[in-house]
Amino acid sequence: MIITLILFGVVILSMVVQSRVTGTFRKYSQVPDRSGLTGAEVARRILDENGLSDVNIEHSPGGFLSDHYDPRSRVLRLSREVYQGSNIAALGVAAHECGHAIQHGEHYGAFKLRQALAPTAGIGSQAGMLLFIVGLIMSWPPLTYAGIGLYALIVIFQLITLPVELNASSRALSILESGGYMDWEEAGGAKKVLSAAAMTYLMSALVGILSLLRLISLANNRR
Ligand SMILES: [Zn+2]
Repeated sequence: MIITLILFGVVILSMVVQSRVTGTFRKYSQVPDRSGLTGAEVARRILDENGLSDVNIEHSPGGFLSDHYDPRSRVLRLSREVYQGSNIAALGVAAHECGHAIQHGEHYGAFKLRQALAPTAGIGSQAGMLLFIVGLIMSWPPLTYAGIGLYALIVIFQLITLPVELNASSRALSILESGGYMDWEEAGGAKKVLSAAAMTYLMSALVGILSLLRLISLANNRR
């Protein structure tokens, strides 16, 4: 019961955190960057400077804040706002995605682990929940616990995501400043955008851990 209540609170809180990301991004997308470069231009330069000239930059079809680095095709996909934007928010996000490409190029441990777990984690969340429910209905504990085990995979995945995201952001901020793309004041704004985004990953991990605890306590109550 207590876990359900905490979970409910955290889910509400994560909605607030999510809307803060949008708000912070919109706020700093109103602040033009003094370099005058767009997100795509800065990303191209950062990638080239880090020996990643073969990583292409494309428009992301996913819309607002759908920016990501695709390690399979080694492509940086930037949303329209980031690709074309000449502002603090656009440059911050573009540099963050470059951070992931650099992690990939350097074989950064947490990035590799996250990539290896990604396919299994995708299956784990759905199949895990299905096995869990069927196990409960059939009153067959091994199936229920197998479901919990699969669900735990996605929580591990969410936890590994945290250092990967924080590291990409810290790389981004230091590159933006040391590369002369931003001054100290501008980098402060970019940091706020990236920190707000990092909070969403923290909230997802929290929701994941609490959901897992809830499944475990439901399974134990049934016995
Ligand atoms: Zn990221």
